[in-house]
Amino acid sequence: FIAYINNENCVVINRKQNDTARRAIVAFEPNDHVLMYTCGITPYDATHLGHAATFIAYDVLQRRLIDKGHTVRCIRNVTDVDDPLFAKARELGIHYLDLAAGEEARFERDMEALNALPVAATPRASSAIPDIRGFIGMVLDRGFAYESGGSVYFDVSKFGSFGSLSHYSDDEMLVLAKERGGNIDDPNKRSPLDFVLWHPSASDEPSWDTMWGAGRPGWHIECSALALRELGTTIDLHGGGADLIFPHHECERAQSEAATGEPFVKHWMHTALIHKDGEKMSKSLGNLVFVDQLRETWDPRAIRLAIIEHHYRTEWEWDDELMPRNAARLDSWNERAGSNPDLLDGVRTHLDDDLDTPGAIAAIDDAARRGAGVAEAAALLGVDLD
Ligand code: ZN
Repeated sequence: FIAYINNENCVVINRKQNDTARRAIVAFEPNDHVLMYTCGITPYDATHLGHAATFIAYDVLQRRLIDKGHTVRCIRNVTDVDDPLFAKARELGIHYLDLAAGEEARFERDMEALNALPVAATPRASSAIPDIRGFIGMVLDRGFAYESGGSVYFDVSKFGSFGSLSHYSDDEMLVLAKERGGNIDDPNKRSPLDFVLWHPSASDEPSWDTMWGAGRPGWHIECSALALRELGTTIDLHGGGADLIFPHHECERAQSEAATGEPFVKHWMHTALIHKDGEKMSKSLGNLVFVDQLRETWDPRAIRLAIIEHHYRTEWEWDDELMPRNAARLDSWNERAGSNPDLLDGVRTHLDDDLDTPGAIAAIDDAARRGAGVAEAAALLGVDLD
């Protein structure tokens, strides 16, 4: 089996959570056809290493599932209705959908260069307005949401297990909601943790008509509506960066289970954040490493190796030795392009142990040193040798 952290039993990855959260690695035993959803990009800037690391981790998982004989339907949305996209479009003086289309194409080129398998669909939020309207109607009908001041809010008090995905206390949730785009002081809310399903647009933002007023969807509702549309009520595995655990995934889970009355996600799998110069890699700190810039100098296979030599749920630090080291690793593997069944089985075993890509790479390094062929094992990690 493949095992990994399941947020329902608990997740972690965040220093603050370590004290309180229960941790568990659980068996992942999906049916033949696996339903996966990963939260995709907001297309307002180039793909940075944090994005790439997230999607490459799910790509390795998808490869191993296919290798085991599963078919995988993986959906990765594009958040093209969102505050940072509108802000950047405003700054550049262009239409937000033009900005989104250009950045989405850049992202796809980067993913293709990194040899990510195509996903089943990359639906856009802007394509889902009718689905979102219907979804909000379901949440309202079932009594989990209320209208106030032209907005529709999810009523957290009606959903008893709110917080059980992230394992944060109410106070911690309030701090993170404020940090990550929520307006906890909104006077129209009954409670500061209630979150927006629909709200009025600013005058230069897109706006759609609904029964409860013109406006646009909140951030979280898009993924719930798209997951339901593309995959149905219950999905096998939901992924995303660890910074999405709260509020995004906590809110997704609450509104999806409120709308359908069914479990939303069987397994939650989150990727750890990357650091540079001692701090979290982030746009606001300006310490991002962009994939297209790395590609100017390095073989994209070496970039992929530099990412997956780290375990997906361990935070790690970008340093200048990473690319030369992995370019040399790629060279050494390319010299051993034959195949070796024992090595392939060994790599499978590592991947089935909580997607242990560092262990798999070490096994391939070792085989290459011993002169064994490594091509098939490398291909399972998405590295196609010469
Ligand atoms: Zn999402």
